[in-house]
This record gives sequence, C-alpha cells and structure tokens, in this order.
Amino acid sequence: MVKASVSIVKVTDVYESLQESLSLSDGLAGLNIKDRILIKPNIVSWDFDLPFPPFGVVTTSAVISALVRILAEHGFKNLTIGEGALPQISPDGDVVYEALGYKKLQERYGVKLVDFNKEEFVPTDYGDGFILDIAKQALEADKIINIPVLKTHNQAKVSLGIKNLKGCLNKKSKQSCHGVGDEELSRMFPRIIDKLPVALTIIDGLYTLEKGPGPTGKAFRKNLLIASRDPLACDLVGAAILGYSAKEVAHLTNYAKSHGRSLELADYEVQGESVTDHQEYVTYDWEWSEEDTGPAGFEKRGITGLAIRKYDSTLCTGCSVQYNPMLILLSSAFKGEPFPNVELVSGKQQLAAKGFDNTVLFGKCACHLNKNNPNLKKAIPLWGCPPDLEKFVEVLAKEGIKCDYNEYVRFRHYLFSRYKESEGFDLADWSVK
Ligand code: SF4
Repeated sequence: MVKASVSIVKVTDVYESLQESLSLSDGLAGLNIKDRILIKPNIVSWDFDLPFPPFGVVTTSAVISALVRILAEHGFKNLTIGEGALPQISPDGDVVYEALGYKKLQERYGVKLVDFNKEEFVPTDYGDGFILDIAKQALEADKIINIPVLKTHNQAKVSLGIKNLKGCLNKKSKQSCHGVGDEELSRMFPRIIDKLPVALTIIDGLYTLEKGPGPTGKAFRKNLLIASRDPLACDLVGAAILGYSAKEVAHLTNYAKSHGRSLELADYEVQGESVTDHQEYVTYDWEWSEEDTGPAGFEKRGITGLAIRKYDSTLCTGCSVQYNPMLILLSSAFKGEPFPNVELVSGKQQLAAKGFDNTVLFGKCACHLNKNNPNLKKAIPLWGCPPDLEKFVEVLAKEGIKCDYNEYVRFRHYLFSRYKESEGFDLADWSVK
C-alpha cells in the first residue's frame, strides 16, 4: 500500500520553501485547473482596539500570498479565501482581510474574499441525527486548501488542519461542538471535514504557540511548513512536532478510528526534514491549583476568598477568548485582602458549589445551567454569549469587587510588546508585499 506523504520544509524564503513543500508532498496533484478552490486560513479573531499579536495565532499572509502566487503561476484562476472568525468578537471580515493584505491578492490575482459569517450556511446532515450548519462556499468549493497554524490549544491540545475547519461553521454549530461531557468536543469537530473537499493541508509553522489558540499564549519562531494531501497525516506530523503523540490527542484518535486509519507515524512517508530534528514540546494547558480554585499564579500571589473553576471543553471559543482577560481583571481587583468568598463557574456543565456567598456565572450557559441551583446564595450573572469585559467590570463593581479595566489594557500592551525585541518576530508576515 502506498503511504500518504507529508513534507516538512525549513523556511528560508517563504515562496521558495512553499514550492519545495508542495513539490515534496505532490501537493497540487489533486487539483484541476478549472477547480473552484477555497483557501481556508486560520483567523480565529482580530482586534483593532487594543494591540493584537498575531504570532502563532493567525495564519501568516506571507504563506497565503505565496500560495496564491504559486497557484496563479500554475494557471489556477478560480480562487477564494474564506473564513468565519469569531462573530461578535472579531471585526468585520472585510476590514480584517484589508489589514492582512488580502485585498492586494484580490487586485493582483482576482482572488475572491468571503466572510462566511455574512453568507449562507447550509444545514448539513451527517446521517445519524448530527447536523452542522456549514458555509455554503466551503461545501460548494471543488477543492479546499486548508492552512492552519502550528499551534497548541488549551482544550484540544493541538489545533491543526482538522480543527481549523471549525471556522467553516456558523456560531450555533461552533457552539454545539462544545457539547456537555469531556469527550464531546473531540468527538464532534473531527467530523466537520467529512463533508468538505479538503485536497491539501499546509500547516503554517512560521511561528508556533504555547497555551493557544489565542494571543494570550506565548509564540515562538519555528520556520517550518508541513504539507500533505492527507489531512490526518499532516496533523499527525504537526502534533508530533509540537511534542504530542497522536494517541494523546483525542480528536486525532477519534478521526483515525472512524476512518480506519493508523496513528503510527511509521505508516506515513515523511519527506524533507525529519520530525525528530524539529520536535519540541510546546505546553498546551494553563496550570491550576490542586483544589481547583484558580490559576497557579493566583495561589502564588496569595489570592484567597476566590474559587475560579477551571474552564472545561464545554466552554466554546467565544468564552475562551474572554477567559484570560477575565482572569487579569479579577487579579487586578486583589489588593491584599481576601475576595468576599466568591466562586466563578463557566461553560455548560459547571454547577455552583455550596458554601460561597457570591457566585459569578460567566456566560449565558452558566447562567442557564445554574438558574435553579439551590447552592446559590447570591448569583452574579453575566448573560453575554460571550460576556462583555466592560460589563464584567461594571457588574462586579456593584458587588464591591473593583476590577481595573486599565490593567487589562496594560496586559494587552504587554502581550504585544514582549515580541518587539524578540528576534525573528516580524509583523510584516501579516502583510502582502
Ligand atoms: S456563553 Fe460562552 S460557552 Fe455558552 S454558548 Fe456562549 S460563548 Fe459558548
């Protein structure tokens, strides 16, 4: 049996390295010149209000533009770039595409730009009562070229090609992937790909990210491209480079099982660089106190009177993106005195415990779930989906918990500025020359 091939290429010049990567993986072989090709980057979110470091978070425009150029040189004309970033949190797709330089690709190569969130989603039946609303443009494409980032994910461990396709869903279906039960997330989203014509996956490893998927994680320069016509093979190699064996990653295991595929790297043909030469463990998770009362850092600072239950896989990306900022805000309220016996719960399965004077219900789901919870002495509900941070500050202030929004603003500046002096971090990677 012919082994699926995956290429690993060290990036020197992005355009040349991508050419090498596609040549080693025979990446364009599955594409026909008349195909409607959808290029799917990873643009989880973006922010123009406060500094936003895209390193290891968002697919680089350097890789996208090199790919478009290569496709155009091979005669491909019907190209679309499409993404459905987090609604409510991300700005309008057009504005983000402009910032990423995609408009130049539109002018130069006639690439169509689509914000899935503004277009139609088609309810798609998976045959066993499982229905997802998938972007029409993704379903109608002849071929999809999937371009995720080489990053970790604090719930899924790694966020690579199979996970990136979640951006093809509408908000409701994205949320439904984060169902109740610890296994649900890893069982649900690997199924998205089954209805999509993914012909090629290119993992953009110019940067990588620990504690992803958002900008609160820490990025590293990596300078790799991983490509394959086989989505599982590409993700297995990506995971291995991030230091995770496929067996540790539930969604890869589930995908392999349901498709009768092997999880052993030895069953795939790796071309170019070797996995071991680039393998380096990248942490995916945030450290928490043993008693589940908050991040380890809170314990070290001596914060007491506060029990923040660790997020679980039912927390969908909207709330996840607000979660770290929420921690920063709570930490800003600590002035050496204990909090007034507060618990914070979030997601779709955390029930407030007995014994707390105040319970913050972070997000609509936690509010609904705990509506009739007899353990609640005083609920502090934040009904947003996801909750708004300024509202969070306002509501907690009424309870005497004085968070400082400026502390969050300073944190955002810090996140951005920590890359300024770092060698190899270049914002020009998110522009098109
Ligand atoms: S409240 Fe949060 S966890 Fe619930 S659906 Fe909204 S974003 Fe997802």
